[in-house]
Amino acid sequence: MAQTRVVTLDLNFQGRPHAIAAYLIRHSEGAVLIESGPGSTLSALEAGLAKESLSPRNVTHVLLTHIHLDHAGAAGWLAKQGADIYVHPLGAPHMLNPEKLISSATRIYGERMESLWGEFLPVPENQLHVAKDAEEIVIGNLRFVPINTPGHAEHHYSYLFEDIIFCGDVGGVRIPGYQYLRVPMPPPELRIERWKESLHRLRKEKFARIAPTHFGIFDDVDWQLNEVEKGLDSAARWLEKVMPSEPSIEELRASFTAWVVEEGKLFGLSEEVVKVYELANPLGMSADGLLRYWKKVKNAG
Ligand SMILES: [Zn+2]
Repeated sequence: MAQTRVVTLDLNFQGRPHAIAAYLIRHSEGAVLIESGPGSTLSALEAGLAKESLSPRNVTHVLLTHIHLDHAGAAGWLAKQGADIYVHPLGAPHMLNPEKLISSATRIYGERMESLWGEFLPVPENQLHVAKDAEEIVIGNLRFVPINTPGHAEHHYSYLFEDIIFCGDVGGVRIPGYQYLRVPMPPPELRIERWKESLHRLRKEKFARIAPTHFGIFDDVDWQLNEVEKGLDSAARWLEKVMPSEPSIEELRASFTAWVVEEGKLFGLSEEVVKVYELANPLGMSADGLLRYWKKVKNAG
């Protein structure tokens, strides 16, 4: 069978390339998007669609890997244009009623909320579809298999399509041009053990290409999954090393950032790419996620 064409739309997040992608696949009645991107990148999304001679109204379906704002923020807007939205069962309530999601993000981002993420509209119930783990989603001539892959977040699916896995954030963050990957570990649902189980599950599936939302389609699948696992293991070791001295969150953020930045230098990352990594995966956020994991999961009770 001939490979179906998959188009990477660069949403040009905060004016930078290679930070957030949405993936576009045509079918007989229109087009499917994997991820909507945030509300702040709608004009880039429309421009990307226009390049393919499509408009937002041609997007019939959007498959969300998870409901973080950079992946799902524009789904409600696309629903308004007529698209059906597919999501993990644990993410569905937040797509119907995003108030809680928005208010917790506002606590983090404050005044930068609007410029970073734009508007997050709810998805009407009759356009929201709860995808079932391993149950095929058939759209025209296209078939997708959602695979439950928690760890980065409990509400996380990867989607298998032909020989590609769209792995959201569970496959890490890597910017084209470097053999270098970072693991995004935000609060509040980081679960290192569960994430490793998800990697194990992905390894059992057959695919030749891997498409993280940050950013692009790669064919060194084994390298990528192993690198995520190595990143999780070294973060866990790092926690064991730094936590006994009971650092403040500020100290923890500073020390985590210093560690990762130092490591990045070994890979010769350009300043520009360091900025893109920080947009796609803020290091302070991962430090917060690790701290919460340490207190609430690793040493709970
Ligand atoms: Zn995420």
